[in-house]
Amino acid sequence: MKLPVFSRLAQGDRLNTLESALYHGKVGRRQFMQLAMAAGASFMAARVMAQDGGDAAITQLYNARNLKKAYDYIVVGSGSGGAVVAGRLAAETDAEVLLLEAGGTDQLDAILNPGLWPTNIRSERDWGYTMDPADSVNGRALILPMGKVVGGGSSVNATVWARGHKNDFDFWASETGDDGWSYASVLDIYKRIENWQGKPDKERRGEGGRLWIEPARDPNPIAPALLGAAASVGIPAFEDMNGEMMEGPGGAAIANLRIHDGRRVNLAHDYLYSALKRPNLTLLTGAEVLSLTVVGSRVTGLTFSKDSQVHSVESKTRVVLSAGAINTPKILMLSGIGDDAELSKHGVETAVKLPGVGQNFQDHVLVAGCLWEYREPLPPANNVAEATFFWKSDSSLDTRICSPSRSKCLSPRKSPGHSTIRRRELGRSRPGWCDPRAAAVSISRPPIRRRWPASMHGSCPIRRISRQSCAGSNFAAKLETQRR
Ligand SMILES: Cc1cc2nc3c(=O)[nH]c(=O)nc-3n(C[C@H](O)[C@H](O)[C@H](O)COP(=O)(O)OP(=O)(O)OC[C@H]3O[C@@H](n4cnc5c(N)ncnc54)[C@H](O)[C@@H]3O)c2cc1C
Repeated sequence: MKLPVFSRLAQGDRLNTLESALYHGKVGRRQFMQLAMAAGASFMAARVMAQDGGDAAITQLYNARNLKKAYDYIVVGSGSGGAVVAGRLAAETDAEVLLLEAGGTDQLDAILNPGLWPTNIRSERDWGYTMDPADSVNGRALILPMGKVVGGGSSVNATVWARGHKNDFDFWASETGDDGWSYASVLDIYKRIENWQGKPDKERRGEGGRLWIEPARDPNPIAPALLGAAASVGIPAFEDMNGEMMEGPGGAAIANLRIHDGRRVNLAHDYLYSALKRPNLTLLTGAEVLSLTVVGSRVTGLTFSKDSQVHSVESKTRVVLSAGAINTPKILMLSGIGDDAELSKHGVETAVKLPGVGQNFQDHVLVAGCLWEYREPLPPANNVAEATFFWKSDSSLDTRICSPSRSKCLSPRKSPGHSTIRRRELGRSRPGWCDPRAAAVSISRPPIRRRWPASMHGSCPIRRISRQSCAGSNFAAKLETQRR
């Protein structure tokens, strides 16, 4: 018997294939409506989809064939940030917006089916970056996945809606002297944009905003078992991983997910698609930005490659660089914006001295893994990572740094658990100098400490999972008991 989530997913995927065919001009509007209704869409829903999809396809085809010499705004990258900026600029102003995305369509099963997200890693939808080999990981060169597709990371990520911790935002506000970063300030924004489907919390969560967020539905039993196991070592369970839990020392909860009717909702879905039918927006896929045109200290345009041809385009107002944590500094440095000494070492003429460019790279490092085997096969569900907890590695710290740990139920038989840590040390990235189109980027991190701080021994169950055999760990044993 099929679980409801899978039949909803199958219907969503059929509709999606149809939408993609409409966008690419392979079916007409009338035929689309017939097929969409046969796939279970209501007459009204099919009509709206046909109208919007048809309009967007025609507009984008026309705009791509009639590229202009200059646009008001050029947005680089249609990822989590770029999709929002370009979509809102086009929808809320009359400005001419050109959105350049190196990757291709997000209308693919590997993206829309949330359980398939790991299959995008090292596919053509990943930039394929690798860190420099590091002694602290036995000389291995770790991979650094990054979305190369419409929607960027929001198309290939694990769909977890994870807000920052209150202390993180307040720290950024104090560092920058800008209260716009404070928790109180961003909380207002979160409340405005969220359409939270879990237990209402008027003080902290938004309802009716653009972003559909739901607690994992019908999670695999390993997820609630993780909450019970966490409680057994003093980590309290919360109903919501983003409400009160993100204001205190930590806790465990079923994950908040960006999944609607069994399908991934990415930022392009929320902000970009509805703007694609507007004549003032041009989305060019397969368009890779090579460098910026810098005149004096001002960026006046850029150069990009598409279909093996190099094009130049001017910006009348602004170029918005939203190409992700690695490619944004890479583009800047290839354009002569960065650290003087670093640029001259590679024969790049400095246009603007900005020593911070390419420094302070941060991400969350996977530090532990553990595998449980089910007694009977269990189908993977949702994003295959439905429970999460945050805790401090050292109780004297003001904010958790040991975060989050997730149960990942990737196959019907086995369930790896993993944990990631937030780190204080910062790394640096440099672009691949020989060929800006090559995947070469030199990314180094300071060594990862092999030993946890002593204070962590009593406080962080992640260590127990990672350093003891699963069978011997209290935590794993608790999981096992709860599963029976
Ligand atoms: C495998 C994976 C799992 C993750 N899981 C989660 C999760 O569950 N929850 C969570 O909150 N976060 C998660 N993240 C992180 C999250 O997705 C990113 O932090 C976020 O997407 C970053 O947004 P961004 O706009 O800075 O960059 P991105 O979303 O990466 O967007 C950058 C865009 O720019 C494009 N681009 C880059 N260079 C160029 C160029 N030269 N020319 C044209 N286009 C270019 C890229 O193709 C991409 O589309 C995950 C990330 C990965 C890779």
